[in-house]
Amino acid sequence: MNRTFACTACGRTVREDDGETAYLKDDLPLCRECAAKIRILYPRSFTWQSTYTESSDGFDAGSDERTVWVDPLADMTMEEYREALPAAESVRERMRAELGGGKAYFRVDDNKRRLKNAGKGRIVPSDYTVSGTVILGSFTAEDTIRVHRRGKTLTVKADSAERIIKGLVPKPSEFLDEGCHGILVFKEDVPFIYPGDILEICGQEETV
Ligand SMILES: [Zn+2]
Repeated sequence: MNRTFACTACGRTVREDDGETAYLKDDLPLCRECAAKIRILYPRSFTWQSTYTESSDGFDAGSDERTVWVDPLADMTMEEYREALPAAESVRERMRAELGGGKAYFRVDDNKRRLKNAGKGRIVPSDYTVSGTVILGSFTAEDTIRVHRRGKTLTVKADSAERIIKGLVPKPSEFLDEGCHGILVFKEDVPFIYPGDILEICGQEETV
């Protein structure tokens, strides 16, 4: 764990980062930045794995669910990686033309409320989270988020951002880059953000 390696694509020596370092076919390591260059075409995804036991009365017993990450890069050769670079760039250009001039775009999967058990049976709201995938570009938590809804444009700011790397355990992060699964954390409720929304992220200078 945390050994260093030379990235197969850029040659830089970087520290192995569990869940962020990608491996091409034959275990050739790629640094996060080099992997991110083609994540627009080959995002990681996760699937649910559930284990169940059949019992005599026909009900499942001891059912257990966990996430399993799937990385399409694991099946690619270095040659295929190099070929994917211009292909990813043309998809990026097409999406830019379709989506507009935002710094980044984030597709929403879920809008959740995290509650905290404050003891003695008291449950209090902790924060509000919007999870999803960065479909284009890269941004930081300080950037302004635009939500286009019912003919209006609402402007909000997240308080922080988290990356979802392994399992479904989020890790606080300064930035979310292209193709990454992440969470935007808000102190206030954002009921106007729905699953399926595409949030437009603008630069910090556009804050009002
Ligand atoms: Zn690299």
